[in-house]
Amino acid sequence: MRSHYCGGINESHIDQDVTLCGWVHRRRDHGGVIFLDLRDRDGMSQIVVDPDTEDSFALAEKVRSEFVLQIKGRVRRRPAGTENANMPTGQVEVLCKSLTILNAAATPPFPLDEHSDVGEDVRLRYRYIDLRRPEMLNRLRFRSKVTSYIRNFLDRHDFMDVETPILTRATPEGARDYLVPSRTQEGSFFALPQSPQLFKQLLMVSGVDRYYQIAKCFRDEDLRADRQPEFTQIDIESSFIDEEGLMGITESMIRELFADQLDVKLPEFPRMPYSEAMQRYGSDKPDLRIPLELIDVADLVESVDFKVFSGPAKDPKGRVAALRVPKGGELSRKQIDEYTKFVGIYGAKGLAYIKVNDLSQGVAGLQSPIVKFLGDDIALAMMERVGAEDGDIVFFGADKTTVVNEALGALRVKLGHDLDMLTCEWSPLWVVDFPMFEEDSSGNLTAIHHPFTAPSCSPEELAANPATALSRAYDMVLNGTELGGGSIRIHNEDMQQAVFRILGIDETEARAKFGFLLDALKFGCPPHGGLAFGLDRLIMLMTGATSIRDVIAFPKTQSATCLLTQAPGQVDERQLKDLHIRLRKAPAVKGANPEAEKKED
Ligand code: ASP
Repeated sequence: MRSHYCGGINESHIDQDVTLCGWVHRRRDHGGVIFLDLRDRDGMSQIVVDPDTEDSFALAEKVRSEFVLQIKGRVRRRPAGTENANMPTGQVEVLCKSLTILNAAATPPFPLDEHSDVGEDVRLRYRYIDLRRPEMLNRLRFRSKVTSYIRNFLDRHDFMDVETPILTRATPEGARDYLVPSRTQEGSFFALPQSPQLFKQLLMVSGVDRYYQIAKCFRDEDLRADRQPEFTQIDIESSFIDEEGLMGITESMIRELFADQLDVKLPEFPRMPYSEAMQRYGSDKPDLRIPLELIDVADLVESVDFKVFSGPAKDPKGRVAALRVPKGGELSRKQIDEYTKFVGIYGAKGLAYIKVNDLSQGVAGLQSPIVKFLGDDIALAMMERVGAEDGDIVFFGADKTTVVNEALGALRVKLGHDLDMLTCEWSPLWVVDFPMFEEDSSGNLTAIHHPFTAPSCSPEELAANPATALSRAYDMVLNGTELGGGSIRIHNEDMQQAVFRILGIDETEARAKFGFLLDALKFGCPPHGGLAFGLDRLIMLMTGATSIRDVIAFPKTQSATCLLTQAPGQVDERQLKDLHIRLRKAPAVKGANPEAEKKED
């Protein structure tokens, strides 16, 4: 139906006949001549319809925005002075010889030929129109190039693409499962995979040796701005490999991808132990572009009367840390109030600060509501500890360690952006030496990575000191975003049982839930490890998109619904019956499921 894409016409086509198909981006009537901007996924061409071609002209008068047309015509140079240097096709235009309306279009819910501040809900409801916008289509195209590059890279390095099931058993990655009721096994449920973790490990037992998959994963979590209930991972696993091997190959993949697709040479990937990342940046995914660090001051304030500081300083689970912001003294009262509100999101009860006006005057040169509670010597000692200089502001966090880390860690990033402090464009690193476990709110140990991650010690040492044991896990972080994470896995049954025991999973439960894995570990499981990258986040970073939804063709909302298809939807009673399910409560929309309503209990 066409000879070229609209965006592909240039001076080399002058005097050639072409056939283009696309959507009417804009129509302009210039006293007797009609100009159409015809758009397709590759760009736009200007079509000139003059009254000599009577039939086409009559049709052109009828077309409206987003009509679908086929144009046959001849490419010519635009008259001098009418060229458009901003358009790749701006030197030429197509003189229309025949115009066919392939389809009419209703007025679109938002204009595509001008910027409009349409709400995201309307964009999601009419996603197919939203995706016609060049910036959206370009992101999809970029995503496709990235996956194709990655497939090629992994194919070249002997990784084998293997699909794993979507209807499966729970794979614990720390989130709630999406469940699918079984029709054939009454009362039983499949879980959608939170990741292909166990299957990829089983593939190692099978001798696949090197596996990858661009895999859909499902996690029923309360959604934050950068999460989706279904998302895509570049999932990788390899046998007979250690940390160095895995980090080496995946780092090469990302490095080469950035060079190839963005012409960016990523700097060295330093390695940072988890404990150092938390200590210095309050985060296990530090943004190293920001030259601000948390500095511990608990030892200085342990015995002050000011309980807000001395309490956490004496608490083994507490932390008192300072964040010095060079030249931050210019922040206004109002801005400091905003930052206080901001740290409140992370549970901080306040945000103490000291403005450093003139250190040569000693305490008199400090401006702060807290100096009088701390005492002069301690206030000055703290200034010395953080290396304060005139014109700085020093913020403080004093609370449980987790609260201080989260609050000051987030404040550090926010200040870095607000005050334009980024020192470079890209800053990657590996975070290593994660603890095996962390305590949940009820004091139980849970796996930081997942329960299949190998510890760096023997099963006996692990059982003796689980809380301090380190794991063989590693995360790749770029600009404060976790791009991917993985680990060397447990490949023998004793170690796996030891980890289950620490997690409070007794032998019966372990057998019931993971019997297939425990069995597989007995049948010659090679040492192996892997990693998974979050594809959506990777694309987001590479394209500079601000929302994860902008790099996914059909994303869900923050309440995990699809505005386009109205999923999840109600089903009729017959389907529920087939699935042996009776609803405890009537569906929200009355009349949609009358039988279930009658049976409501
Ligand atoms: N399955 C892990 C995850 O989804 C990644 C891995 O360990 O390879 O985070």
